[in-house]
Amino acid sequence: MMDIYNYYQADTVEQNQLRYKNKLVDFKYSTYDKSNKIKILPDEIVKILLKAGKIGTKIMSDIYLVGGMTRDLLLERENRDLDFVVSNNLPCLIEELSTEFDGEGSYNEKFHTGSILTRSGFNLDFATFRQEYYPYPASLPLVKFTENLKDDLFRRDFTVNTMVLNLHPDRFGQLEDYFGGIEDLNKRRLQVIHSFSFYDDPTRIIRGLRLMVEYGLSPDERTKRLLIEVLRNFNFIEITPVRVINELRILLERNKGSDLTGYLRDYPIFRLLQIDFEIKEEIISSLQQLEEYLAYYREKKYNIREWLLRLAVFLKDVSPVQIDEWDIKKSEKDILKFPGKIKSRLNIIKNTEERFALYKVFQEYTREECILLLTFSNEESTRDKIKIYLEELSRISIDIDGFILQDLGLKAGPEMREVLDRILAAKISGKINNTEEELKLARDLIKERNGRDK
Ligand code: ATP
Ligand code: MG
Repeated sequence: MMDIYNYYQADTVEQNQLRYKNKLVDFKYSTYDKSNKIKILPDEIVKILLKAGKIGTKIMSDIYLVGGMTRDLLLERENRDLDFVVSNNLPCLIEELSTEFDGEGSYNEKFHTGSILTRSGFNLDFATFRQEYYPYPASLPLVKFTENLKDDLFRRDFTVNTMVLNLHPDRFGQLEDYFGGIEDLNKRRLQVIHSFSFYDDPTRIIRGLRLMVEYGLSPDERTKRLLIEVLRNFNFIEITPVRVINELRILLERNKGSDLTGYLRDYPIFRLLQIDFEIKEEIISSLQQLEEYLAYYREKKYNIREWLLRLAVFLKDVSPVQIDEWDIKKSEKDILKFPGKIKSRLNIIKNTEERFALYKVFQEYTREECILLLTFSNEESTRDKIKIYLEELSRISIDIDGFILQDLGLKAGPEMREVLDRILAAKISGKINNTEEELKLARDLIKERNGRDK
C-alpha cells in the first residue's frame, strides 16, 4: 500500500526504492526490429537518425530516439518533434549534429539537456539519462544522472512513451521495450508507471488526457483510479499555473474543446488551476459555436490563437482576479478575461450603426476578442457587424501619410493625426474610395485649416 507521507519524507535513494516498490508495470524487456517503419519516414528524419547514431559511436555515447516520435513511428503517424535520450557526452553530440544539419544548437549545463532546431525545421530535444527526486508533491524535480537507461525510462509518464529506438549503427532500428509499451499501444491502453507519478507531477494528468483524446487510449483500472483519486483529493496549490497552462495549450492546440467535454466529468483537469465547474449544455454549445467560427476563419487564413479561445470558453466564469495571478503573457490574460466583459461590449455594438463608429469600437479589440464576441452573441445583426469589421473594415487603410501631407503644405504637428483620421473616417464610411479622392480630400482639409490660421 502506498504511503504518500513517507514517500515525500524519504531521501533520494529511499524515494527511488519506494517508486520501484509501487511500480504498476511489469518489467518485460523485449526488442523488435522496426527498420521497415523507419523506411517510411521523411528522408530528412532518417538522415538525422543515422547521423546521430554514427556520432554516438564515435563519441562513445549510447543514443536512442524516445517518446512521441517512437510511439508515432509504430502507429505510422506523422511527428516532427524528435526526442533523444543520451548516455553521456551530450555537448559533443549537439555540436557535431548541429554543424551537420546547419541548425541552431543549445545546451543547458545545469540540466544536461539540449536542443537543435535544424535548418529544415525539425526540432530535436536531448536529455542525458536521469532519475528524478521530488521533495514534495508537484515540485520541480531534482535531477540525478544515471548510467542505466531503464531508470531513465521508469521516470517517464506512461508506458506508451517509454519505448526507445536504438540508433547505434549495428542495431539501428531495434525497438527496445522495457515495460510492455508496445502491447499497451496495440491495446490502446494508458498505463502510468508507478503509484506516485501523478503526485510527483500532476501535469501528467493532462498529458494522459491528451493520449486518451488523440490516440483513443483508455486508462487501465489502476491508472484510472489514481487519476480520479489525485484529481479529487489533491489541492494543487504547489503547482504553478503556467506549467498547467503550457500542457493545456498543447492539448487545446490539437483538439477541439468539444472533443474534451466527454472526459471532463471523470477527469476534471481544470482542478489543476484550482477551478471546479460542471460542464453544462451552455459551455458545450459555445464550444461548438466557437469551432464553427474558427473553421470559417481558418479557411480564410486568419492567424488566430485557437487554443486560447478554446481555453477562454472553458474559463468563462473564472474571476479576472484569479487569472491575473497567473504568470502568463498579458495579451493572453486579456483574452482569457474577455468573456466576463462580453455582455456590455455586445450592447455597445448593438447600439452602434455608422461604419466609422463601429470601426472605432472594434479597434479596441484583438481578432481573438472579436471571435469571442461572435461566439457569445445571440443576435444576427450584431454578428453581422462583427463580421463586417473582421472581413472589411479592419482591412481598410489609406494610401496617404504624413510625408504626403507635408508636401501638400501641412506643417508637422498634432493636426496631421487629425487630418489622417478624417481621411480614414471618410474612406471607412465609403465617402471616398481611392487614392485620388484621398488626395482631393487632403487638399480640401488643408486649405480649410490654413484658411482658418490666417
Ligand atoms: P509529442 O508527440 O506531442 O511531442 P511526446 O510524448 O513526445 O509527445 P514530449 O513533451 O515531447 O511529448 O516529451 C517527450 C517524452 O518525455 C515523453 O514521451 C515522455 O517520455 C517524457 N515526458 C515528457 N513530459 C513528461 C512528464 N511531465 N513526466 C514524465 N515524462 C515526461
Ligand atoms: Mg515529443
